[in-house]
Amino acid sequence: MLLVVLLKWLERNPFLWTTTVSQLVLFITLSANLKWNIIVAQSSHHPLDVPPSILPDSVVAFLVKATSMSLESVQCIWPLLNDIVWDFHPETLCDADLTFLALKTLYPPTNCCENMECSRMSELHKVEACQVVVYTLNGCEPAWVIHLYCKDCHCNYHHNYYVCDGWRTYYKGIPTFLQVSEHCCVEWQLVEICSATNCSMIFMTTFAHEASSVFGDVGWPFSPTLSMVHVWDMFVLLVLLHDHASRDEVLIIPHTGDQRNHFDMAMQEHNEWIVYHGQDEIDHYCDGWMRVYEEDQDGTPELHKSSHLK
Ligand SMILES: [Zn+2]
Ligand SMILES: [Zn+2]
Repeated sequence: MLLVVLLKWLERNPFLWTTTVSQLVLFITLSANLKWNIIVAQSSHHPLDVPPSILPDSVVAFLVKATSMSLESVQCIWPLLNDIVWDFHPETLCDADLTFLALKTLYPPTNCCENMECSRMSELHKVEACQVVVYTLNGCEPAWVIHLYCKDCHCNYHHNYYVCDGWRTYYKGIPTFLQVSEHCCVEWQLVEICSATNCSMIFMTTFAHEASSVFGDVGWPFSPTLSMVHVWDMFVLLVLLHDHASRDEVLIIPHTGDQRNHFDMAMQEHNEWIVYHGQDEIDHYCDGWMRVYEEDQDGTPELHKSSHLK
């Protein structure tokens, strides 16, 4: 497209009179990087090489924030630039000015419905992009979580599970990131390394302060706050997922009601299973955490031996 043609179009639309060249460039580079997010919101019949005429709401919201353009300007400028954007390949970008493009996006691991009773006539559709905070061994970062939807059986697909008729079915295996609340995803190794108190405390003192400026830069509505409750929920979920994976079963829990009680039934089953079948670890004996105190001459106990606390 010739620049003069574009300029004429811009001139015709009052919403675009205040648009600057840098906003224009930013708009093109950002939306070119968001192609996948734009595509997944289209109908499954939409050809991949044709840019859609309307942007999904979540992408519009993101572009408004990132380019400081108004909602109307973003909506008006898209049909003018969509062809340019579609031909634009993100790998040709210089990435220095685009910190927020590095944002992680977590998708459901499947693009087709897993419900056995579903006719599976169509692919899953994107319904929502939610803003979350992801906690990893290396710190925390803002991220998007994409929800997909099955039009045939009305199942909702999240990053870790799908929801059908009020029941939440976790996908098989252990995912890298576990979503423990609406806006919180945690890398599972983070929980394995320490206790709940330590984990949230170490994390908050080491990473949270440093990371909060990044969250400010991209206009994220939440700052990093990894609480003990998150870590405990995560621990319970991890135990249940491991347990089910070892028996080649899927974890199914209620999706409705209080978040605190979601895991109760599964925990109860898990405990009963151990009561009936025993546990490999039950025969484990070692003095790894044993402490021996000996009384000295005055009768005061003195720590004599502690294997882990030498
Ligand atoms: Zn379905
Ligand atoms: Zn031991």
